[in-house]
Amino acid sequence: ASKKNGRNCATSFSPSMAEERAIDRALEKDLESAFEKQQLRMVYQPIHSVEDDTREVEALVRWKHPELGEVPPSTFIPAAERSGLMVRLGEWIIQRALQDFARWPGMDMSINLSPLQLQHDGFSTFLLDCCNRYHIAPSRLFLEVTESLSIERNTRALLTLNMLRNLGFRIALDDFGTGYSSLSMVKSFKFDRMKLDRSLVMDLGQDPASVAVLEAAVTMARHVGAEVVAEGISDAHLIGATKSAGCTHLQGYFYSRPIEADEVFGYFENNWERRAEVA
Ligand code: C2E
Ligand code: MG
Ligand code: MG
Ligand code: MG
Repeated sequence: ASKKNGRNCATSFSPSMAEERAIDRALEKDLESAFEKQQLRMVYQPIHSVEDDTREVEALVRWKHPELGEVPPSTFIPAAERSGLMVRLGEWIIQRALQDFARWPGMDMSINLSPLQLQHDGFSTFLLDCCNRYHIAPSRLFLEVTESLSIERNTRALLTLNMLRNLGFRIALDDFGTGYSSLSMVKSFKFDRMKLDRSLVMDLGQDPASVAVLEAAVTMARHVGAEVVAEGISDAHLIGATKSAGCTHLQGYFYSRPIEADEVFGYFENNWERRAEVA
């Protein structure tokens, strides 16, 4: 909060930088023990295909802290990255997500990757071992990377991504449209999919410029052969505009919030066709 308000007008309840660092250290310490205390779990958000009845979920990590309650991943993933825990957390996520995924035949799944995982030597081996252990074909997985990767400046991550793509994994550019390097990312790697950030989606219907930006993004994705997921479909009125702009997949609270592993199979059995009709 102090950053948002600017240095000179920090309000009394926004922590100083020293306090922020202290919070960070406490969080990092707690995160280290979160593994064995079983405070981490995976949840899964359905992704709806416009063109066919493909069933897909995105795996999202959750941390239930004993005192703080649910700590959002946007807080603890960066903390894990700063403290050197990200590779271990990333391996826990892949292991658990693929273990769950093995129980859902005929589905696809997306997994988010931190750039630090892609820079780590053992990453591909770990991922392939997990796929073998749970009998999962790489082509059923989307690996989501973000612009924070700056892969055009990161040769090793780029080589790893290329190799994984050659092995059959599909690669998605997440949060497309939020970072300054969006366009150069599109030039530096052959993505199979672009995920339009919900900031590009949420104003559709109120603002004609939003439609123009969305359509331009879809056109660009099409030209490089990538399919397009619209994130943040939180309301039915966003469906028409994203579909007519050419988005091939829709994801958001309108369809479903992220759900527990045990709910995934039932979601697709019970809700899927009804939701598809609305769309
Ligand atoms: P993301 O990968 O872009 O994931 C989508 C986020 O948007 C999720 O938040 C999801 O719950 C939220 N969302 C989905 N539909 C809607 C909607 O209609 N409205 C709104 N307001 N939000 C919606 P979540 O789970 O809190 O994750 C936030 C970010 O944290 C993710 O953004 C991703 O960058 C990161 N993250 C989450 N899980 C993982 C993980 O397992 N590994 C890594 N490396 N990062 C993760
Ligand atoms: Mg994602
Ligand atoms: Mg996303
Ligand atoms: Mg996003």
